[in-house]
Amino acid sequence: MPWLHRIFDRIFFFLKSIIHLLYPDVCLHCHRELTIKTPFLCYGCLSKMELVKWRKKEAHHLLEQAILGSKIIESCVLFNFERDSPVQTVIHQIKYKFNRSAAVYFGTLLGQQYFALHSKAEFDVLIPVPVHHNKRYDRGYNQSELIALGISSVIGVPVGNNLLKKTKNTKSQTKLSKEERKENTKGTFSVSDKIIEHSTVAIVDDVITTGATLNSICEILVKKNENLQITIFSLAIANT
Ligand SMILES: [Zn+2]
Repeated sequence: MPWLHRIFDRIFFFLKSIIHLLYPDVCLHCHRELTIKTPFLCYGCLSKMELVKWRKKEAHHLLEQAILGSKIIESCVLFNFERDSPVQTVIHQIKYKFNRSAAVYFGTLLGQQYFALHSKAEFDVLIPVPVHHNKRYDRGYNQSELIALGISSVIGVPVGNNLLKKTKNTKSQTKLSKEERKENTKGTFSVSDKIIEHSTVAIVDDVITTGATLNSICEILVKKNENLQITIFSLAIANT
C-alpha cells in the first residue's frame, strides 16, 4: 500500500524535524549545526574528504604479492586518511567514541560506491577484521562489523562473523613502525574450517595503514583455502 508508506514517511519526517529542532545535530568535525539531509558531517567538511579515485587495486601496493599472488582480486577504499581531517574524525568517532551509526552509514557509502561499478557482488560473504573479545567487550562492538553491515545492507551479501577470530589481544598499532606492526600481528588470527565452503570473500577494515593486519589475515585465509579469491574493503587508507 504505497499511500500508507507515504503517510509513515511524512510522520517520520515530521518527528525527525521536531527532534532536530529540539536537539540540533552538529557536524562531528567542525561542530557546526547540520541540516537534516547531511548526517554526521556538514557540507564543508564532506567536501574536504578526499575521495579515493575508485581504483580496483587501491591497497595492492601494501600487500605482499609474493605470498598472496593473484588472490586479491580487488581492494576498494573510500577516502584518503590524513591527520586532522574530517576523515580522521570519522574514524576516531567510529573506533573510540561509540558512534555505531556513523560506522553503518559510511559502510553503506562503500556499498553504493561498489555498486556504481559492479552489476553484482563478486564475493559471497563479508568478513569484518575481528577485534579480540576483550576489546569487543570493552567497546561493546566491532567497528569493522558495523561497516560490513552497512555494505551488506546495500549489496545484500551476508556478514560472516564467525569465520575469523582474533585470538591474541595485541597492543594498539597506532604508534608502531611498519616492522613492529608486522611482528605485532603475527599469529593473532585464527580461521574457521568453514572457510573452505567459500570461493570468494571480502574482508572489511576501517582504515588501512601499513597493510600488516590485512597481510596477516589474507595469509591465514589462503593457507586454509588455497583457492580463495579475496576482495578488500576499507573506509580509508593512509598514504604512508
Ligand atoms: Zn563540519
